[in-house]
Amino acid sequence: MNGTLILPQFLIQKSGQTPKEDWGVRVLGGRIDAVGSNQALREQYPEDKIVDAPNSVLSPGFVNAHVHLYGVLAHGIPLTNAPSDFWAFLDDFWWPLVENALDSKMIAAATDFGCAEMLRGGTTSFYDCLEAPFAIPDALLVQKEIVEKHGLRGTLSFEATERVSKENGQLGLQENTKFIDLCQKESGLVQGLMCFHTSFTCSEEFIRQAFSLGADRGVLTHMHCNEGVHEPEYALKHFGKRTLEYYDELGVTGAGMLASQCVQLSERERAIIAEKNIKVTHMPLSNCEVGGGIAPVPELVANGVTLGLGSDGYINDFFEVMRGAFLIHKANQLDPQVMPAKNIWYLATEGGARAMGLKNVGRLAPGWVADLQLIDAAFNTPTKAHNLYDQLVLWRNQHHVKNVMVNGKWRVRNGIVLDADLGAMRARVHESAERMWRKAQ
Ligand SMILES: [Zn+2]
Repeated sequence: MNGTLILPQFLIQKSGQTPKEDWGVRVLGGRIDAVGSNQALREQYPEDKIVDAPNSVLSPGFVNAHVHLYGVLAHGIPLTNAPSDFWAFLDDFWWPLVENALDSKMIAAATDFGCAEMLRGGTTSFYDCLEAPFAIPDALLVQKEIVEKHGLRGTLSFEATERVSKENGQLGLQENTKFIDLCQKESGLVQGLMCFHTSFTCSEEFIRQAFSLGADRGVLTHMHCNEGVHEPEYALKHFGKRTLEYYDELGVTGAGMLASQCVQLSERERAIIAEKNIKVTHMPLSNCEVGGGIAPVPELVANGVTLGLGSDGYINDFFEVMRGAFLIHKANQLDPQVMPAKNIWYLATEGGARAMGLKNVGRLAPGWVADLQLIDAAFNTPTKAHNLYDQLVLWRNQHHVKNVMVNGKWRVRNGIVLDADLGAMRARVHESAERMWRKAQ
């Protein structure tokens, strides 16, 4: 069977390890079949289709391990003043004006645009958390159809919460279980995951129920955790202990737990994360936006925690997210050596895949999925293997991504997202945003 040879200037096979010059890959079906020097691959597979990519870096596609695709609708929303703190961000702004206003047409418009935007910027896998209490049932089915049209590897979830009512909470859990069961039956590129909001919008019973439903289906259970000081303060006041100590006491901490944010952590909470193999996602830019603080990511990485990066639906250009993670901790710790570029690239690819529980995703090695991107390597200064990660993290943006493949299929060619009318998508986002913003005014 003929495959496709992709022959770049640089190959990042395993993120974090030294890139290889004049090495490429062979793609067969949806998988990486072989890796070798460009010359050896040409000689060994003379019948294969050849994609010559000089002046390009071939890398695993990005894994956006935490996004809210509907978030695009809030970009630029008119507010008289920015919210005064994290609680006000949720209670005065995000809940009433964004989440509660979402309907299926808005979700469809935002998902469609978000998928095209992610592909354009080299993201091939993502985890989306939909928070829309009045758009269920079947909001996830609306998203699924669109993600499948774009051919992305998407994990979708509905953020179940008892914030509106107990009944609405149960409807949210059912939204997830029905969806997970359906996706497991189909075993395509779209999968489901269990998700609830936080310890301050969900009861103890509800949290246990969510974890048990997730465990029954062999999927992770996700929640937002200590995104600002509000949640640990709430937990101390109501449970006499901090958030992760509370979860630990409930008996739900473990490798099946995906905790996003984890900004405000005590030493004990950091130890619980490491000891219980809790997976974490880090959103450096949105943490700034909501005044949440700076997450102790270098400490978590040093403790061997499985960690990925996410855009949180805020600034979705993954190069910007990487730069945030690259820079913010250096400033915070007064140490330019923390979070080197090669570690950032790892978190943005294989690290994120592991945090999401994806297998054989995030590395270009035989047997791993063919989720990859070609990035323009025409840098302003001489570039070799020793400085490639720094050049990429600091001096590239999403418009430098040229070609993107997901599961062996090209989805972006020469910077154009295939089968996507971006103008029409943007018009639908405008229409949806205008409807949402009318309620805000
Ligand atoms: Zn989030």
